Amino acid sequence: MRHNVIDFKARSSSQKTIETSVSCSGIGTHTGLASSITIHPAPENTGIVFVRKDLDGHPSIPALLKYLVNGHYATKVGLSLEESVGTIEHLMASFSALLIDNAFVEVMGPEIPIMDGSAAPFINLLKSAGLKSQKAPRKFLEILKTVEISENNSFARLSPASGFSIEFEMGFRKGILPKQNFFYTHTSENFCTHIADARTFGFFEDASFMYEKGLALGTSLENSLIFKEGVLLNEDGLRYEDECVRHKILDVIGDFALAGHPIKGHFYGNSSGHALNHKLLTVLLNDPSAWCIREETAKIPSLSKKSYPKTTQIPSFAFGQ
Ligand SMILES: [Zn+2]
Repeated sequence: MRHNVIDFKARSSSQKTIETSVSCSGIGTHTGLASSITIHPAPENTGIVFVRKDLDGHPSIPALLKYLVNGHYATKVGLSLEESVGTIEHLMASFSALLIDNAFVEVMGPEIPIMDGSAAPFINLLKSAGLKSQKAPRKFLEILKTVEISENNSFARLSPASGFSIEFEMGFRKGILPKQNFFYTHTSENFCTHIADARTFGFFEDASFMYEKGLALGTSLENSLIFKEGVLLNEDGLRYEDECVRHKILDVIGDFALAGHPIKGHFYGNSSGHALNHKLLTVLLNDPSAWCIREETAKIPSLSKKSYPKTTQIPSFAFGQ
C-alpha cells in the first residue's frame, strides 16, 4: 500500500499535457481581426509554445518572459513584433490553473481570440481535451526572498510562500470604480470557481485614446465590461460584485505564467497592470539569489535520501532555454 501512496503523489506532481487537440475561434480584442487557435498535446519539458501557422515558416514562440515583445494593455510574445502573438494572458492563466505544462498552440492570426473576455471558454476547451499525465516531474519556481517594484501609484511584490497566492487591491479610478480587494490561493478548483469567468473591463472614456494607438479595435460589450461615467453599460450586469479585481487576479496568473514554471510565492499587487507585473518578474529572474527551481516530487515522504528536495539554481540568463 505504501508503494501505491508514493505512486499517487508522484503522478500528481508530474508534468501534464492535453489528451487530444482542440480548437476555438473568435476575434482579437485589440486587432479586431478574426483569429483561431488549435491546441495540441506536446512532449514533456516542451512548455507552452505558440506557433504562427499563418506566417511563412510557421515561427514557434515559447511563452517565456524572454520572448515578451509588448506588455502594455495585453501580453504579447514573439521573435519580433511581426512574428508575435498577442493577448495570451487569459489562455496562459488557464494552462496554469489546470497545471498543463506542455502544449503547442497553433494560431491563425496575430492575437489569441478574446472569446467572452474571461478564461472560462479556455478552461472548458482544455477540460474537453482531457488532461494527460507525463513522466517527467513538474518543476516549480520558488521565491526565496522578497522582491518589489513601484511605479506611479502602482505597486507589486513577490515574497516567499508555500503555494501561489495573490492579494490584489484596486484603488484606481476613484469615484468611478469602488476600491476592491481580493485574496486568492491558486488551485484548479479555486480558479474555476472564483476567477475563470471574471471578464476584462475598460472605460468608455478611454476609447478614443485606445483607438488612436490601434488598440481595442475588437472590444465590445460581447467581450468586455465597459463603464461609462462609472455606470456599467453591459445590460446583463456583473457576474460578481467585485468582477474587476477578480479579473486582475486572472491577469496576474497569466502574466506570471511567463516564468515558465508554476510559482511558489505570494504576490501582492496594488493597481498593477501587465507591464508592472512583467517588470517585477524581470527583477526577480535577474536576481539569482531570489529564486530557485525545485522538483515537487521531493515532497514524497520516504526514508530514501533520493526523495529529499532537489534544488537547482540556474543563472537567470539561462532561464527558459
Ligand atoms: Zn485580462
